[in-house]
Amino acid sequence: MTDAADPATVLVVEDDASLNAALATTLKAAGFRPVTARTAAEGLRWFAHYAPDIVLLDLGLPDRDGLGVIAEIRGRSQTPIVVLSARDAEAMKVEALDLGADDYVQKPFGVEELLARLRAGLRHAVQARGSTPLVRTGDLEIDLGLRLITKAREPLKLSPKEYDLLAELAVNLGHTVSHKDLLRAVWGSERADIQYLRVYVGQLRQKLGGFDGAPLLVSDPGVGYRLAQTAPA
Ligand code: CA
Repeated sequence: MTDAADPATVLVVEDDASLNAALATTLKAAGFRPVTARTAAEGLRWFAHYAPDIVLLDLGLPDRDGLGVIAEIRGRSQTPIVVLSARDAEAMKVEALDLGADDYVQKPFGVEELLARLRAGLRHAVQARGSTPLVRTGDLEIDLGLRLITKAREPLKLSPKEYDLLAELAVNLGHTVSHKDLLRAVWGSERADIQYLRVYVGQLRQKLGGFDGAPLLVSDPGVGYRLAQTAPA
């Protein structure tokens, strides 16, 4: 995806001229194809024109609230959006995630962190639009496209938070997802109370049950959780 033949296009919407230019240089050096915009209007125009693989969006734009840009993009596509948030904008950050932003990087940020977030966003997008957004393990089937879960072919009813938790584990099937990453994915902040996570994992584990005598939701103490990868039933 980021090989020389077909670099991923990153739309950068940031009004700060020096930051905008620095991002373009950084992204190009890292093998991406940056397209830059300085206003919300320009950002939306380039979005339609270039159909970028991912969007890096500043929330404080001169012509329009960045939140409006998220809503507008989400109205027509699932392209991942990583928000550049100011240090004191916690409430706005949560709102951005609620509107459908996929992740955020807090200013000032390090280059490596930014690139890691972009790669993660692109990876998720590829997994989400894979030809079979269907994850199977044991007698569990998770349709990430339709948000349908079945256990032994019977529909399994989950709360929205339980679903989000399971979806994050499912796209990482067989791999442990850290507590931090789960808190960020489900509650929008890695500083959310880890106690919530434990409670929801407990509920989810009970609903998912086991397969062949082993639990499907596995705890890696002190690290995180994973959805066990076992041959489908
Ligand atoms: Ca700004």
